[in-house]
Amino acid sequence: MWRFFLFLVLILTVAAVCFAFQIIFTSDLHESLVKNGMGPYGLVDYLSNTDRSRVLVLDSGDIFDSKLQLPFLGDNRESVLRYIQKVNYDAMVLGNHEYYFSHEWLEIYKRINKSLIGANVQDLEPFHIFEIDGMKIAVIGLTTIQHLANQIEHAQNLPSDPLEALKKTLRILPKMDYIICLNHLPHEIDIKILELFPEVNLVLSGHDHRGPELKKIKEGYLFEAASHAESVYLLDVNPTQRVVTYRQLGLMTDYVIQNDNTGMLLLIGTIVGILSLLWVLF
Ligand SMILES: [Zn+2]
Repeated sequence: MWRFFLFLVLILTVAAVCFAFQIIFTSDLHESLVKNGMGPYGLVDYLSNTDRSRVLVLDSGDIFDSKLQLPFLGDNRESVLRYIQKVNYDAMVLGNHEYYFSHEWLEIYKRINKSLIGANVQDLEPFHIFEIDGMKIAVIGLTTIQHLANQIEHAQNLPSDPLEALKKTLRILPKMDYIICLNHLPHEIDIKILELFPEVNLVLSGHDHRGPELKKIKEGYLFEAASHAESVYLLDVNPTQRVVTYRQLGLMTDYVIQNDNTGMLLLIGTIVGILSLLWVLF
């Protein structure tokens, strides 16, 4: 009998030591899916050749940009939606830039994108739970209330206080082996989360464009991304040894974004024309 228990303990110990997973993380892409033949769009090919059973693919928001929808600045929303669909993210959050668009558009986006989570956003699930090697991992989504454009348009549906929402979510969350906060929040609030909530193991954040930066705060880790096409990372997470490391993923892609900038070119052409005329006349 004792041999059976010894075997069981050995198996459980090996399973615990081996519990490790990877995160592919993007943030603040601002519609920038490719730059000089490299960029996030390369994830589509990369993931089609990757076993995703030990990988979580996550995005921290501001995947759209919008530029306040000025007609001459182009609109890449269709390309970005196609990219999101092809990558098939496990979890994503809304950034403040997603609020630049109309209320109707945002509601449709929230409905069709099943990866979206937001503990402080109306009509979204606060978290997703994943299971890797029998270990339960929760990813909780939080969106900033800072720099939200179009506040009147979205007056009825603005995000609530992220710290309060996190406190409530942690109260209802079942027992987990690892808790990740997927944030689109200012740096100070990311730090506060790790200081105030020791049950949170890892904070992945965007919004400030200050990364890539990995910091240990108390017993948890904070990873912040850079922005635009450079912002694709692979994190190795070993919860049992409490280690998180990261590297940037340089992904080649031959994708060309269909950027409708004809209006912009026309505007520049008109301005140059007027300036030339003024130069000649005066
Ligand atoms: Zn932002």
